[in-house]
Amino acid sequence: MKALGPIPAGFAAIDGELAIAGHKASALVASAGATPLFVYDADLVSARIAALRVAMPARLGLHYALKANPFAPLLRHIAALVDGFDIASGGEQVLALAAGVEPARISFTGPGKRDAEITAAIRAGVTLNLESAREAEHALAIADSLGTAPRLAIRVNPDFDIKGSGMKMGGGAKPFGIDAEHVPALIKRLVSAGCDWQGLHIYAGSQALDSAAISEVQAQTLLLAARLAESADMALPRCNLGGGFGIPYFPGDTPIELHLIGEALEQRFAELPVVLAQTRFCIELGRYLVGEAGVYLARIVERKESHGEVFLVTDGGLHHQLAASGNFGTVVRRNYPSAIATRYGAPPAEEASIVGCLCTPLDRLADKGGFPRAEEGDLVAVFCAGAYGASASPAQFLGHGPAAEILVCAGVRAGG
Ligand SMILES: *Cc1c(COP(=O)(O)O)cnc(C)c1O
Repeated sequence: MKALGPIPAGFAAIDGELAIAGHKASALVASAGATPLFVYDADLVSARIAALRVAMPARLGLHYALKANPFAPLLRHIAALVDGFDIASGGEQVLALAAGVEPARISFTGPGKRDAEITAAIRAGVTLNLESAREAEHALAIADSLGTAPRLAIRVNPDFDIKGSGMKMGGGAKPFGIDAEHVPALIKRLVSAGCDWQGLHIYAGSQALDSAAISEVQAQTLLLAARLAESADMALPRCNLGGGFGIPYFPGDTPIELHLIGEALEQRFAELPVVLAQTRFCIELGRYLVGEAGVYLARIVERKESHGEVFLVTDGGLHHQLAASGNFGTVVRRNYPSAIATRYGAPPAEEASIVGCLCTPLDRLADKGGFPRAEEGDLVAVFCAGAYGASASPAQFLGHGPAAEILVCAGVRAGG
């Protein structure tokens, strides 16, 4: 038997069934009219953001990295709770604006921005986090032709990354950001060209669970920002300190300790150099805001045995939950938290693998986990499905198409 990842807090059992925001899984599936189904709990997202507001310094702004989950009702919910949105494409700009986010609260990060995207961002008044000198020149030329002062910031490729983070985004040669040594000259170039100078964006990594490592990288980020601003001989208006706050997915993973990160950052804020004295700081988080608030529900189509092993074959799979199958940025396949949603809380009675309906051995949502005996028609739940699920999985693979999605809160369903 292989261990399953830890089920996030906030889920209960009602009549022996998994309940999300107080709604039984079977009722949610009935009202959505289909499986597979992603359910996002708006109350859990609100609670997570509230916890961040309590733990982090009041001076620190909170941004949502939209790529973690761009579901429109969720964006509208989050837009009212955070200070800014970080987008990574022209397509995400359309989604953010449609959710009612003011352009001045949106910043656009990501390599390979096309001129059409740069133009749309500058037209709308979205901040561009520039990833290269070439992109900077294109932005200046496009703004010139539009007769406007573009909101520009520089994404710095830092010389460090978060120790133990799942995905390294800084440190050494990278396609992201501008190497720190070239930043002071570019700041001067942008300011003298008359842009609306917005400051620096420094993102060192993703999915870190080591609170001390996160604090360490924040301290290094502040030192780097100060050094660059001093070299450019200019106070820094804004600084995006990145993010990287991870969530527990796998057996043995433990949550980060927000209060420790908050206290350490408060301490650093108390001793900032002059160039950072007036700087507006923020962090940008994706999965930490929404990851644990999402559950993927699929129905068991068939219970099958082969060579003594039990396979629960569902109508879902890696085409919706690539990460849970172990094929999205993980080296060793380990089990996400999962359960039989219609027998929730019942003790494990057998070893079974939850698989999808794709004809590839990669399509495994849970490998040899301990579950109560499940039958055809039961619902399975894969947790930690709120981030990098629906939008980061190959929904068109084998022609199955996307899963349904709904946002729920206690009381009534909030839309879908
Ligand atoms: C992916 C990404 C994020 C969000 O990462 P999470 O791990 O979901 O918090 C934030 N900022 C940038 C620049 C990114 O590339």
